[in-house]
Amino acid sequence: MQKAKADVMTKNRRKINSSPEDESGAVKKARDCRAADPASKAASPSPSSKSLHPADISYIKSRAEKIVDALEKVYPDAQCSLVYEKPYELLISVRLSAQCTDARVNIVTKELFQKYPTLESFANARLADVEEIVRPCGLYHTKAKSIIELSQKLLSDFGGRVPDKMEELLSLPGVGRKTANLILGDVYKQPAVVTDTHCIRICRRLGLSEGDDPAKVETQLREVLPMERASDFCHRLVQFGRDTCTARKPKCAACPLSEWCEGEPASSNGSPLTF
Ligand code: SF4
Repeated sequence: MQKAKADVMTKNRRKINSSPEDESGAVKKARDCRAADPASKAASPSPSSKSLHPADISYIKSRAEKIVDALEKVYPDAQCSLVYEKPYELLISVRLSAQCTDARVNIVTKELFQKYPTLESFANARLADVEEIVRPCGLYHTKAKSIIELSQKLLSDFGGRVPDKMEELLSLPGVGRKTANLILGDVYKQPAVVTDTHCIRICRRLGLSEGDDPAKVETQLREVLPMERASDFCHRLVQFGRDTCTARKPKCAACPLSEWCEGEPASSNGSPLTF
């Protein structure tokens, strides 16, 4: 079974675009440590749900719960770093956060939400005016257009209310699963997994998921995380990813999760997967 599992994992990894970008010494060390410890390898199945035995899933679930507990102790307050007052403002902020920092989004939305204090004002806004304000967030034409269009759709199809169902959220212009999960988790307190860059990178290092496809990672995490705590866990991952488990220079020596870390898995050609 181990060989079959290894074959499937190798096949899965071949599908992922690998990058020869730099591998930090710390991550490499973490991976090397694991590689040098056969017992650790044998006891740490990676979560490829189609190939894993139920016993392996159960092992990863119990490991995931310990990781969730540990991170909760380090970051008791799980908070979204985007500043908003109304649900539709969160929707707009998340739309602006694509390829932009939350700090910059918060600066931009301060002016944006002052100038357009209601959903109706966004729906009737001139594209050029919105573009001018959101320009610092990048991709400003597309973002401004979808902000106006999603405001119009919220008014025309949902009575001005942000929907609380995944399918309805996905029908809004510019809204993908990441945004929809954030709304469901933060606004409606539903089980949700926000697979942003921090979540994908860290969960892969911790052996909770594989690859860097957000939808596939979400599916894997939904199988192993305690879902009632998943939304908060994802917020904590963002904090952890910013101050400790960074993409290029993770502070492994001071890491509270090091005992569960598997390091950065290699791609089929031996290069580290990076994200
Ligand atoms: S989880 Fe911890 S040990 Fe692993 S790469 Fe991140 S900082 Fe390093």
